[in-house]
Amino acid sequence: MDTVLAIVIVLATVLAMEGVAWSSHKYIMHGFGWGWHRDHHERHDRFFEKNDLYALVGAAMSISMFALGSPLIMGAQAWWPGTWIGLGVLFYGVIYTLVHDGLVHQRWFRYVPNRGYAKRLVQAHKLHHATQGKEGGVSFGFVFARDPAVLKQELKAQRERGIAVLREAVE
Ligand SMILES: [Zn+2]
Ligand SMILES: [Zn+2]
Repeated sequence: MDTVLAIVIVLATVLAMEGVAWSSHKYIMHGFGWGWHRDHHERHDRFFEKNDLYALVGAAMSISMFALGSPLIMGAQAWWPGTWIGLGVLFYGVIYTLVHDGLVHQRWFRYVPNRGYAKRLVQAHKLHHATQGKEGGVSFGFVFARDPAVLKQELKAQRERGIAVLREAVE
């Protein structure tokens, strides 16, 4: 088993997970899965949110992949890439919890970046929270963020077309 190949699989999985997170956030969590995501978009003072169940879904994906890759569990049927895909999903989970829960929502620490890509990530996700309800919205990814100025234009266009209701004015 090649080390370089294993590293490539881990990195490719982390990248792919941003796509999985983006599409499931946009089409599932803001779609039929809104019931679990809704409290993340509402003000409250509880520590846990129903939305955290989605993090458990991610953990289950990682654990399933580790299980598929494990000869202890799967015997001769073990599928070796499973271990590295599971590790990539785990890394994505760590990045998600540091960036989204930590940096943006200050769940674990308080640090407000005032420049660079970290600032852009925070601004972009704050703009994700600028809409009311599940309709419309921008910036469904967690690791790649578009220019906040462009996102604001998109939000204004959505409001004008009646696609989204904004919580507050986006200047
Ligand atoms: Zn959302
Ligand atoms: Zn959020």
